[in-house]
Amino acid sequence: MAHLGTLFIVSSPSGAGKSSLLSALLERYNVDRRMQISISHTTRPMRPGEADGVHYHFVDKAEFQAQIERGAFFEWAEVFGNYYGTSRETIERCLEQGIDVFLDIDWQGARQVRDQLGSARSIFILPPSLPILEQRLHGRGQDSAEVIRNRMDQAVAEMSHYNEYDYLIVNDDFETALGELIGIIRAERTRLPAQQLRHASLLDQLLAG
Ligand code: GDP
Ligand code: ADP
Ligand code: 5GP
Repeated sequence: MAHLGTLFIVSSPSGAGKSSLLSALLERYNVDRRMQISISHTTRPMRPGEADGVHYHFVDKAEFQAQIERGAFFEWAEVFGNYYGTSRETIERCLEQGIDVFLDIDWQGARQVRDQLGSARSIFILPPSLPILEQRLHGRGQDSAEVIRNRMDQAVAEMSHYNEYDYLIVNDDFETALGELIGIIRAERTRLPAQQLRHASLLDQLLAG
């Protein structure tokens, strides 16, 4: 099915800056409201400062399982011992309306999405170094030492999948990384198939002479 909107998958090791980059992207560049971040369902506990329905839809394992059985998820995966999933309905509704949807999901979810939607574009975010990654996880101040150790242990495994993605951004200087991200989105929006759909009547008029 051809969509007006593009589905963007964004992955990185935890702490590389996905959430910060996506929030800045929407704050600064979403004037025409053509971008939306998909809110995942998760079974992990809420962090201080998080709100249900804003950062995630927080559900228990039984509810998550029921949604899997109902086929409500476009993709789902177990990450760091918790379940995370993307709701099918929201994504399809947005893409049909011409809204670009951003999925902050891990590499397992990225694979499932690519298999289902060949037009999805995927972006991998790398930190400038492992010590800086660890510093950022500590600096975020939301996870315990044990959680951070677990995420650092998983970081290399997550990064080993970088070459499955269409685009690679190193988040060293934040503004540079953000500029690269908006560049990717603008390039994708101007690709021929999307523009043919968006400007069908203009093309008809121009070519009719
Ligand atoms: P943060 O990225 O460190 O802030 O951690 P999060 O708790 O937001 O995400 C935990 C992990 O789950 C990350 O690897 C995400 O990429 C992954 N994740 C988040 N949302 C989704 C989703 O909807 N689907 C899938 N498959 N993975 C997700
Ligand atoms: P993720 O969503 O990938 O886990 P976050 O967006 O939560 O990562 O970023 C982790 C921490 O690093 C946050 O405290 C954030 O403010 C900080 N951070 C993100 N990008 C940069 C950057 N380019 N330079 C310095 N700090 C950054
Ligand atoms: P956090 O617990 O720090 O919010 O997220 C940890 C990891 O889970 C991140 O790498 C994030 O991208 C991933 N994640 C969050 N939501 C989903 C989801 O719905 N599906 C998948 N596959 N991964 C997710």
